[in-house]
Amino acid sequence: MAEKKAPEEVQKDKSMLQQKTMLADHAERLAHAKEAGTKVVYTFVPGNLTELILAAGAIPVYPEINALQSGMRKLSAEYIQEAERFGHSEDVCTYVKCDIGMMLKGNIGPTGEKLPEPDLLLLSYTGCFVFMKWFENLKRHYNCPCVMLHVPYQADGEVTPAMLQYVTDQLEQEVIPALEKVTGNKLDREELRAKMALSRAAEDNLVWALQSAKQRPSPIDAYFAGVYYIGPMFTAFRGTAAAVEYYRLLREEIEGKIARGEGPTTPEGIMEKERFRLVMEGPPNWTSFRDFWKIFHEEGAVIVASSYTKVGGLYDLGFRHDPDRPLESLAEYCLGCYTNLNLPSRVSLLKKYIEDYSADGFVINSIKSCNSFSAGQLLMMRELEEQTGVPGGFIESDLVDPRYYSQANIKNRLESYFQMVAQRRASKGAMNAETSA
Ligand code: SF4
Repeated sequence: MAEKKAPEEVQKDKSMLQQKTMLADHAERLAHAKEAGTKVVYTFVPGNLTELILAAGAIPVYPEINALQSGMRKLSAEYIQEAERFGHSEDVCTYVKCDIGMMLKGNIGPTGEKLPEPDLLLLSYTGCFVFMKWFENLKRHYNCPCVMLHVPYQADGEVTPAMLQYVTDQLEQEVIPALEKVTGNKLDREELRAKMALSRAAEDNLVWALQSAKQRPSPIDAYFAGVYYIGPMFTAFRGTAAAVEYYRLLREEIEGKIARGEGPTTPEGIMEKERFRLVMEGPPNWTSFRDFWKIFHEEGAVIVASSYTKVGGLYDLGFRHDPDRPLESLAEYCLGCYTNLNLPSRVSLLKKYIEDYSADGFVINSIKSCNSFSAGQLLMMRELEEQTGVPGGFIESDLVDPRYYSQANIKNRLESYFQMVAQRRASKGAMNAETSA
């Protein structure tokens, strides 16, 4: 059994350290992009077209990732205040305000390197209206071209052939020409196929890693550690050999944990006893990420599946990027992002997770400034409780605005919730014993 770590001594798996190196290399490439003549494309995580950007010879920047990293590094409060002084109201998505505040203060990225200005804004619109307003603001500030990929919302819970064709046509007729114009290069279609083959290999191991949480005890926390696991896949590394290697290493690491019967690695060591298995809906709070996680791991609560780790792609339902149908599969990918799913589809996905991962309950972290996730969550909670019979917990916080995170309130609520889950489980156990007696 691993020793508990002193609070300041954070336990990190090898894969986490490798990811840190990958991110540092990417920050370095970005810092020198202008002098190297490499074009920079800003884009969003849901519906990102990373393979296409890389195959065109450009480098991607993801404003949401900068915002969440600023939150984790305690820089977001200052950036948000700067954006509010500039005129953005308190109700605006705090990722947007954090990004705009960072830009107004010189665009020094979370690693301390200045971020290059965009040569192109690639607005992949997948279900959240804020994406459009965000890039409208950036376009005005940077005075650079913006190309929009309009992805139809899955309002009826399905992707029709016409929807697929509509997105594929835009990729061919709008997005690729815009990338070619900015980079001055004709898109290398063979390079795109090769990158998509690498994506597929990495995706297989990501899915394996997330599904390892079906084991008892779960070897991973699919939310708090899961957000690190999705990092390379949802950002600049999809379609690269580095991502394939990262996910191979992650799988090897988890296989080792399963063989040893070990629980998830938390910042304070390996969790010793799994008491609760939970499904999580909603993004995490980033400004107090470690304290937030601590409330769960101190109670022996493991998140075995979460919707947030699907925000940049729903691979566990079978989707893979396909080198033989590159544009069609990019279109399928964008249409299938979690942000593009209607409420009934979200409910059935969470229900499937509760059942497939044998969860004792589910928790909704309702994010004050993210309507894309939080709208309808109380209704979803009621539906899920009715359909699964397991109890739901509801807490409220924010992404990167520390004014909306209260450790004491959230801890109180969760402690009561854990007690309720334990009581329900005990009375269910007693009923089962009576029935079989
Ligand atoms: S509202 Fe939510 S989904 Fe939309 S941009 Fe903000 S954080 Fe992302």
